[in-house]
Amino acid sequence: MIRKLAWGVLLLLVVATVAMMYVLNDRPDLDGYRDLAAPRWDGQPGVNVTFLGVSTLLISDGETHIMTDGFFSRPSLWNVALGKIRPDGERIADALDLVGIHRLDAVVVLHSHYDHAMDAPEVADRTGAILVGSESTANIASGGAFPRTRMVIPEPGVPLTFGRFVVTMLVSRHLPHGLAEGTIDAPLTPPVRATDYREGTTYVVQIEHPSGTLTVVGSAGFVEGALTGYSSDVVLLGVGGLSAMTPEYRRTYYNEVLGRLQPKRVFPIHYDDFTRPLSEPLVLQPRLLDDFEQTMAELRERAGSDGFALQMLPFAEPVAVP
Ligand SMILES: [Zn+2]
Repeated sequence: MIRKLAWGVLLLLVVATVAMMYVLNDRPDLDGYRDLAAPRWDGQPGVNVTFLGVSTLLISDGETHIMTDGFFSRPSLWNVALGKIRPDGERIADALDLVGIHRLDAVVVLHSHYDHAMDAPEVADRTGAILVGSESTANIASGGAFPRTRMVIPEPGVPLTFGRFVVTMLVSRHLPHGLAEGTIDAPLTPPVRATDYREGTTYVVQIEHPSGTLTVVGSAGFVEGALTGYSSDVVLLGVGGLSAMTPEYRRTYYNEVLGRLQPKRVFPIHYDDFTRPLSEPLVLQPRLLDDFEQTMAELRERAGSDGFALQMLPFAEPVAVP
């Protein structure tokens, strides 16, 4: 009897594991969006943007180089869920080598969750950059012994100048998912749990240049009316987690960001499975966690009605903007 029961439990465990693996591997194919691929930069002078996963972007005019987030460690799902995490120096070095960047003027952190802020002080340290972010990000930096003198906690709405770029941080809101909310109130020294990287202030970042304006929205949240009076040629639109929200929420998000900024081009960001290393090709999140197909179907419709070009950035290859 006991032996039968044991076999039954074992069988159940095997079935549950197989089902779980199936569900976690059921993801839409990123290749399905080839028709939206933005053309690669042809080397002409001007501003270009390079997508490096999640909301890590390199924005350059050839003289000044600005990076958002700079998240490259991408710890495994196992470590994120059950273990402790820390910046991975080798992965950070490999990613910077990949795009040939060894000097940055600024690393701008969109909020303090680990998939945005964890590596930022190390990236800023390696590249000599100024680190721009919230009090919570400052505590991540202090925990990693990053010098406070190279850190700027921005005054919301007050422009910061880097070369010919003018960077303005606007207070926004995170997509409401209830994970790691609140602030980091003391220096945070890794290894720590992923949830110790609390959100802090969430920013929308506007980056102006004589050749055009870009706006980076790292998380699919909004403050009603916060972008009134702003406009942008290009929006890098965070879409992570959107499919789990109500249609009403998504409509309001699009209205508050795209409706206000009236962009000519929109690039979705924050859609890749960031528990996989950048040494492997980017893949979309499992459908169970985030249905990118649904989000993109809505954005295609919106592109048609609003009249912007919806495009996908290639991984680690510059695209000319605006
Ligand atoms: Zn976040």
